[in-house]
Amino acid sequence: MTANTSGADCIFCAIARGDIPSEGVYADDHVVAFRDINPQAPAHVLVVPRRHVSSIDALKDDPELLGRIMAAAVTVAQAENLAASGYRLATNHGRDGAQTVPHLHVHVLGGRSLNGRLG
Ligand code: 5GP
Ligand code: ZN
Repeated sequence: MTANTSGADCIFCAIARGDIPSEGVYADDHVVAFRDINPQAPAHVLVVPRRHVSSIDALKDDPELLGRIMAAAVTVAQAENLAASGYRLATNHGRDGAQTVPHLHVHVLGGRSLNGRLG
């Protein structure tokens, strides 16, 4: 994980701007969602804020944006028809959390039975 606080070189900022292609599945004024390039499940979507936020750890003072991201994640899960069978929302912070892209993203995972272990 590279240090990055501005978003200037951030790949998810570039995706949110549309400068780097992605398969978008949801967008509003604050949040975009797109399919993970290396899916870990039949449905694997990343939900990210449009503005650069390094991880969930930097967003505790903005519960409104946090709520928007989580609501968008649920919208995506429902649009992917995952609600009946179930799905997982996950976000990683830092080295031990195995965060590899330093722009906050919530994983929406589903479409198969997921391992009960989280780590
Ligand atoms: P993390 O490990 O940081 O929680 O998850 C980062 C996720 O971003 C990984 O699942 C990885 O496959 C995905 N990813 C990394 N680069 C790109 C990209 O350029 N486009 C898309 N769509 N996904 C990416
Ligand atoms: Zn960014």
